[in-house]
Amino acid sequence: MSTQSSSNWQTVLAQAITDPQTLLDYLQLDPRLFDLTAHQQFSLKLPFSYLKRIEKGNPNDPLLLQVLPLIQENQKVKDFIPDPVGDLMALKTTGVLHKYQHRLLIISTPACAIHCRYCFRRHFPYQQSHASKNQWQATTDYIQQHTEIEEVILSGGDPLVLSDDKLASLLQPLEKIPHLQRIRIHTRLPIVLPQRITLALCQLLQKLTLPVVMVIHSNHANEIDHDVIQACLMLHQHQILLLNQAVLLKNINNTIEAQVNLSHALIQANVLPYYLHLLDKVQGASHFDIDEQQAIALHQQMQKRLSGYLVPRLVRETKGKAAKELIIKQG
Ligand code: SF4
Repeated sequence: MSTQSSSNWQTVLAQAITDPQTLLDYLQLDPRLFDLTAHQQFSLKLPFSYLKRIEKGNPNDPLLLQVLPLIQENQKVKDFIPDPVGDLMALKTTGVLHKYQHRLLIISTPACAIHCRYCFRRHFPYQQSHASKNQWQATTDYIQQHTEIEEVILSGGDPLVLSDDKLASLLQPLEKIPHLQRIRIHTRLPIVLPQRITLALCQLLQKLTLPVVMVIHSNHANEIDHDVIQACLMLHQHQILLLNQAVLLKNINNTIEAQVNLSHALIQANVLPYYLHLLDKVQGASHFDIDEQQAIALHQQMQKRLSGYLVPRLVRETKGKAAKELIIKQG
């Protein structure tokens, strides 16, 4: 892993599958079983590094279901809306979301290595609203003026699709802002494209004068293979704190077995389970939704079955709230 050059991951990314027929052919799935026209609204995308972990011939594979643009996405369902978490009302300047007083989130790129069908930003107007390098001065000016901000979160899209040079040019000016205490990176790349975690990237992050917390995103233990474990261990060896956030998804990870396996796989890779999100009710994702009482019951089972540090917090993000809401046992 550490010897791979950055061009390798960029090649894998450039060759990501975007055509539904190619996906079905590779996985030996009968195209008559699927209507995948939803990809016309939100395109299919997954790189081979992720594809190879999907079981051939299995239409219910939990990794496949995260990327398959099923016709159910086209249904209009009450309460499922384009911007369920209020991103647009939190936009302060281009690509800068200031929702929570002491933390600032930056949409650093519109691009991802994979298109997760349940993504709460699937309708986000990225082209007008991401903090490109040209607007970076305005971004850093905003942070300078807001001395209450302690932590900057690079999000997207996925910030690790940016080259090391671009990342460095975004991160290094942040080091000069005296009131910043840490940088957080939200990324699915260590899971989807572990080749992205090169020695050069780890050294770039380690050399920053601000500590780096990386919140990765894995929903299922089958996503965590040998390459992912090696990538996470390398990040860990370079003093990057690794946390995971998952989304509770129907038919993908809504069983005690799936959640226990995920927590076990994460800790093997030195990643702590951090959040288990209730699905954000984004338009097009209603077929992934789990009833809240079922989620609470599952979480109670997890508490009985797992060591405390392996139980992620069950949370929901509600538009306009000052923090994520912990879902507490009811009744
Ligand atoms: S990687 Fe993250 S931002 Fe990109 S589509 Fe998936 S959930 Fe959305």
